[in-house]
Amino acid sequence: MKNNICLNCGKKLTDKFCSGCGQKADTRRITFKNLLYNDVIQGVFNLELGILYTAKQALLRPGQAALDYIAGKRKRFYNIFYLILLTIGALIFTNNMGDLFGDQSGELVTKKVYLNEASEKLDKIISQKRNIILFLFVPFAAFNSFVLFRKKKLNVSEHSILSGMILLGILLLSTLGNIYFPLNNFLNFSANIASLVITAIIIMYVWYGYFNAFGGDYSNWGTTYRIMLFFVLLCLEIGVLFLLVFGYVSDWKFGEVRITPFG
Ligand SMILES: [Zn+2]
Repeated sequence: MKNNICLNCGKKLTDKFCSGCGQKADTRRITFKNLLYNDVIQGVFNLELGILYTAKQALLRPGQAALDYIAGKRKRFYNIFYLILLTIGALIFTNNMGDLFGDQSGELVTKKVYLNEASEKLDKIISQKRNIILFLFVPFAAFNSFVLFRKKKLNVSEHSILSGMILLGILLLSTLGNIYFPLNNFLNFSANIASLVITAIIIMYVWYGYFNAFGGDYSNWGTTYRIMLFFVLLCLEIGVLFLLVFGYVSDWKFGEVRITPFG
């Protein structure tokens, strides 16, 4: 049965999709066959294609992919910010999984021991708000690249798409690192070296991401010193934020703290 009006929003149908809400015009009764093909297989497959495509783009050409998206090629991308949330979930999961393989001390830590009250508060704030803290990369990085890379005349929100894409890449790399390096533990790969390697890869990736987006606008040196300034600004922003939170938890007395929020 074909309808002349959209069963979702009531608008008159003129094509394969509703011009009002975008739902497919074809809303035949759900049978076993179209349940299997349209709703289950195609639905999951399309979703997965979107996720895989977006993840691959974020890893291989974050700058150009963000520019594509900003320019209007958006259909193939899965929602970047939702994918960031999903990846944070995977990151936390693989962090804990790493403990299963990685912790050779053999001790089960059930309750954390804190140096002082400020350490405890700080640790709690950071571990409870880590999604928000990780997300702060988006506005910080967007502001920095907005200030530094002016030639394309993108606005801060457009720069946020780029910083979102790069945050996604960072989180994907960290997750992959969590999966890869614990396995390498069998080869006696030290955990410190592993996190050093991941950090180096991430810094190179961020570097590459901004080069990928804006390298064509400036000379190589012009891009390089802008990216260096980008990192300086980012460190300053993170430093100020940390001092504010640290001041807050220590009643502005500061002093010594020791935290392991991600452990
Ligand atoms: Zn509709």
